[in-house]
Amino acid sequence: MPLVRYRKVVILGYRSVGKTSLAHQFVEGEFLEGYDPTVENTYSKIVTLGKDEFHLQLVDTAGQDEYSILPYSFIIGVHGYVLVYSVTSLHSFQVIESLYQKLHEGHGKTRLPVVLVGNKADLSPDREVQAVEGKKLAESWGATFMESSARENQLTQGIFIKIIHEIARVENSYGQE
Ligand code: GDP
Repeated sequence: MPLVRYRKVVILGYRSVGKTSLAHQFVEGEFLEGYDPTVENTYSKIVTLGKDEFHLQLVDTAGQDEYSILPYSFIIGVHGYVLVYSVTSLHSFQVIESLYQKLHEGHGKTRLPVVLVGNKADLSPDREVQAVEGKKLAESWGATFMESSARENQLTQGIFIKIIHEIARVENSYGQE
C-alpha cells in the first residue's frame, strides 16, 4: 500500500522575489510575466515520490520584511518552509535572515525543514548576492540551498521535491533521538 501524507509548506520572502512565480511554475508549469502582488494564495498538488504520495499544500504569502510579525497560521501545522530571496537584491537576502530567526523562535528553536532559494538566477549580471553566501547561510541552519529561475523553469520542480525530502529528513532525525 502506498503511503499518503499531507504536507503544508509556506513560501516566505521579501516582496517581488518570485514566490508566486515559483509556486505557479511548479503547479501550473508556466511563467507569469508582470507583477501582481499576492495577498495570500494556496496551491495544492499531489506529488508521487517512489511508492509514497504527498498531498502538498503550498501557501504563497504576501511579501514580508524585517518588521513583519508572522501570524500563527505560518507556524502552527506547517511542516516546512521555502524561503526565497532574489540574487539581484541584497536586501531580500537580509530579510531572509530575520525571517528565519522569527520562525526558529516561533517553533521553539527546534530544527526546521527549510529550503533556501536564491531566485532570478537568470539575471546573474545584476547579481548582488553570490551563491556561496546563500550556501553558507543555509549550512548555518543545517538546511538546503538552491538557486533557481522561475522564468527559465530552472530547478523549480526540484525546490518542492527537496522540501518534501527535507521534512522527512528532519522527522527521521527526531525519530532517532
Ligand atoms: P513575489 O512577490 O515574491 O510573489 O514575486 P512574483 O512571483 O510576483 O515576481 C515578481 C516579479 O519578478 C514579476 O515581474 C516576475 O515576472 C519576476 N520574476 C519572478 N521570478 C523571476 C525569475 O526567476 N527571473 C526573472 N527574470 N524574473 C522573475
